[in-house]
Amino acid sequence: MKLSYSCDSCKKENSYKTNASDRVDLQMRLGKDEIKEHCNNCGHFNAKHLNRLIAVPNKMFMFIGGLIGLIIALYILFRFGILGALAFSLPIMVIAQHKKSVSSFNKTMIRRK
Ligand SMILES: [Zn+2]
Repeated sequence: MKLSYSCDSCKKENSYKTNASDRVDLQMRLGKDEIKEHCNNCGHFNAKHLNRLIAVPNKMFMFIGGLIGLIIALYILFRFGILGALAFSLPIMVIAQHKKSVSSFNKTMIRRK
């Protein structure tokens, strides 16, 4: 999951990568409720509460996932004919699943102390 936050100093968007599926999961992995990161643009040291991190869809992931799904779908279509038409839902499912996990991350908030 790619998370995004804006720098306190220069307001540029920075990204933070994690395998956590939601903020509660991320909090457990970090063992704290904020991240401390240097801005990629100006080097400002940002401390961001996890609730201020926003998950953004990974376009590369959706593109590759969609493309692989499409190739498999085409292969099935040529090999098995009309049945393969069903396989076209595969890339759509990959993208839909990714969007779902992004929105579920954004919906879960952790309790502020
Ligand atoms: Zn900055």
